[in-house]
Amino acid sequence: MSKDKIGFGSLCVHEIKSKQAVRPHQLPIFATSSFEFDTIHQGIDIFTGKEQGHVYSRYGNPTMELVAEKIARMESYGLETEAKAILVSSGMSAISTVLLALLQQGDKILTQGNLYGGTSELMLKVFSPFGIEPIMIDLQDLNLVEETLRQHPAIKVLYFETPANPTMACVDMEALSKLAQAYGVKTICDNTFCTPYLQQPFRFGVDYVIHSTTKFLNGHGNSIAGVIVGTDIDFMEQKVWTVMKLAGTNCNPFDAWMINNGMKTLEIRMDRHSQNAMAVAEFLAQHPKVERVNYNGLVSHPDHELAKKQMRDFGGMLSFELEGGLEAGKAFMNKIQFCTLAPTLGDVDTLILHPASMSHLKIPREIRLRNGITDGLIRLSVGIETIGDLIGDLEQAIG
Ligand SMILES: *Cc1c(COP(=O)(O)O)cnc(C)c1O
Repeated sequence: MSKDKIGFGSLCVHEIKSKQAVRPHQLPIFATSSFEFDTIHQGIDIFTGKEQGHVYSRYGNPTMELVAEKIARMESYGLETEAKAILVSSGMSAISTVLLALLQQGDKILTQGNLYGGTSELMLKVFSPFGIEPIMIDLQDLNLVEETLRQHPAIKVLYFETPANPTMACVDMEALSKLAQAYGVKTICDNTFCTPYLQQPFRFGVDYVIHSTTKFLNGHGNSIAGVIVGTDIDFMEQKVWTVMKLAGTNCNPFDAWMINNGMKTLEIRMDRHSQNAMAVAEFLAQHPKVERVNYNGLVSHPDHELAKKQMRDFGGMLSFELEGGLEAGKAFMNKIQFCTLAPTLGDVDTLILHPASMSHLKIPREIRLRNGITDGLIRLSVGIETIGDLIGDLEQAIG
């Protein structure tokens, strides 16, 4: 516990100082593709790793590295263990980079059916043709998980999201990590919905954490980037770094700098997101035209206790079901004035999505329903606005 000498909020706010000779107060954007050497000998030493230094920005760049270091410190905050993070070009590239580092042909990925859409597509359309296939099961069923691990020794990675879209279903990270360890399987958690302020998967024995920093970590919707964090420093520095460098999934200094700016207010944003989402969930739960509210903070949510164990607070994501199905959903969306209709999440403003008519329009209805995406389901990424404005808009749109 001794390594973290300042509070989490202070960690968010303070710059991690670059070891450069100059002393900028704020993190500069190192807009350079390569770095100079004093002598040919120094160049060789840096290239071969004998001397620490920068070579070429695809391999590493001070802006990206200092932002990655802050995220690594956040994910390991208050824990004995240290972590190493690598910033990449998007959440999707974080997922493909870590999977490429961990897997080879013939290996299988054990995961859940209700993953982020891009993640299941990546596994099915990109990895499967190379002979790395996902097995999608209900990860809440621990007996089924163990049975599947026993039956398929080719499983090398257990990949999950908690809480997951759209029902905010949680999985038990501690139990899954123990099972995975017993079968020599590495665990990866997509922690995008929570950020390390609300949830630290390393506390529960998870091996790797990935984020789409595009969402809550940046928080302002103005950059696309991702990060991979691991406590196996050697594996991160050797294998994951090599895949990032050679597949070219690196981030860039400008987007890294945008994340850095956004993260300064992470603690206060996440507190406010959680506080507003709780108020919205309570408002919706008592509304006669709302059939169901999926928010972990409500005692009625089936995973409320598990969420309480794993999360500091319940975050900004929720979904709810309107009476009247598809038509009611569309009518509601057309009346919304204050909230923003946009297919992203985790920004400071409230974002609203009707999956049946938007993100999941092309997905067959049966498949959509099987994953809990019913006709009248609305997904909200609750922002940090004045709560009265938010509830007022929802109230007039529900009618
Ligand atoms: C957005 C998102 C991703 C993909 O991230 P990009 O930055 O868009 O590539 C992955 N997982 C979750 C949970 C997301 O919300």
